[in-house]
Amino acid sequence: MGYAQAKWDEPPIIELSQPGKVGFHTLSSSEERDAALESVPLKLRRVTPMLLPEVSEIEVVRHFTRLSQENFGVDLGLYPLGSCTMKYNPKLCDLIAASHKIQELHPYQDLRTVQGILQILYEAANFLANIVGMKKITLQPAAGAHGEYTGVMLMRAYHRDKADTKRDEIIVPDSAHGTNPASAAMAGYKVVEVPSDSEGCVDTEALKSAVGPKTAGLMVTNPNTLGIFERKILEIAGIVHDSGGLLYYDGANLNAIMGKAKPGDMGFDIVHINLHKTFATPHGGGGPGAAPVGVTSRLEDYLPVPTVEFDGEKYYLDYNKPKSIGKVRAFQGSAAVVLRAYTYILLHGKGGLETASEIAVLNSNYMAEKLRKIKGFSLPYGEGVPRKHEFVLSASTLAKETGVTALQVAKRLLDFGVHPPTVYFPLIIEEAMMAEPTETVAKGELDAMIDAFAKISEEAYSNSDQPATSPHAASVTRIDEAKANRPKSMQLTWKKNISERK
Ligand SMILES: *Cc1c(COP(=O)(O)O)cnc(C)c1O
Repeated sequence: MGYAQAKWDEPPIIELSQPGKVGFHTLSSSEERDAALESVPLKLRRVTPMLLPEVSEIEVVRHFTRLSQENFGVDLGLYPLGSCTMKYNPKLCDLIAASHKIQELHPYQDLRTVQGILQILYEAANFLANIVGMKKITLQPAAGAHGEYTGVMLMRAYHRDKADTKRDEIIVPDSAHGTNPASAAMAGYKVVEVPSDSEGCVDTEALKSAVGPKTAGLMVTNPNTLGIFERKILEIAGIVHDSGGLLYYDGANLNAIMGKAKPGDMGFDIVHINLHKTFATPHGGGGPGAAPVGVTSRLEDYLPVPTVEFDGEKYYLDYNKPKSIGKVRAFQGSAAVVLRAYTYILLHGKGGLETASEIAVLNSNYMAEKLRKIKGFSLPYGEGVPRKHEFVLSASTLAKETGVTALQVAKRLLDFGVHPPTVYFPLIIEEAMMAEPTETVAKGELDAMIDAFAKISEEAYSNSDQPATSPHAASVTRIDEAKANRPKSMQLTWKKNISERK
């Protein structure tokens, strides 16, 4: 079994080119095309023909269809990429967002002609505010990290407004998603890390000694990156608030608690939600995304402008916020992504959203329980503590006893038609494999993935070459990981390939 039947022996399309070859029909006549060209000023016209492959229509179709099969995607199989949810999203949401009624809207249109989309944005913001227990939402930020950056700027605006300018530290737990410290640092804050306790939660004693008059705020994910719910969250909120700091909730993966618990009730002041994870837009598809940021009433005045408002008769854009941090993105952010989320929320209703969270949590606990019992794997931190939407497995025993690392397990999983979990993150776990099966996976698929892990463990203990040299069925086998992470060298290879082709 393997997802990738096609092999990487497809020549570049330019090599399929044969001079003079054409093979498509259009509805326009050559006279019409010449007439269209006439409208282009002479000085703007191309003088040499464009270097395009000369191929037939069916060759083009086959070429790109084959290329599309070289990749692994959520439409092809299980994609349990921990912390970066890749679940199946209803096609209905895409269909509605692709409607010409949406696609042909222009952000500079007279507001009287776009009341429908403004109503959708307004209602979506209210739904989301309700889901996270915040007073008011901005839809502008384009990604989770962008939401965090916006949130940190809101913190700063709040403290400055109180003439409290000494607060230059932001606290993050050592299990935090990498974007949290990065966003805080980008906004000019010093990042103070607090350790996790033996249960994988924020060490409250360490937090007490970390907070003080320099604390602007604490950024946490709850459940945290280990998938564990911070049970002491009210105490944590108290510690931070007593020091004069604010609490930021990283709600990238809301499928853990949606409809069940609200960050607002846990004491948070600012929340971001990745619509491109939890609400019907896949994460990692190259964008665009949307990460609305919600705040409690004490931070409302600082939100980006404009917000969409309703005066009882019409929807309008409110720029009247003198204390606003300004704009963080053009217009209203990714309107089509918000529309997908709006559709998703209406499609599910409150009960449906709750069920989605329940299944996400059930699937993750089922898988964690089965995987941690497989030889070579373990579930560090909080033994016996239930996980939420995700969990982090460790392959450190496997690596010590057989030499087969988390990376090699991940590569071998590809041969079983499963996208590997996130590996080597969070950093506090050795040989980490962070998995999030999501709510859209049926039990049969979970079992197939568990079987794949069991098989890989057997291989590791009997013939470790099999996983060590994997993947065997994928189009591209081992890539140079270091090179892939250095865009500059990648660019050079790309340029070299292009020049060789010419
Ligand atoms: C995905 C994720 C982010 C960042 O979201 P992006 O849209 O990728 O910037 C932040 N925090 C957590 C916990 C996440 O899972």
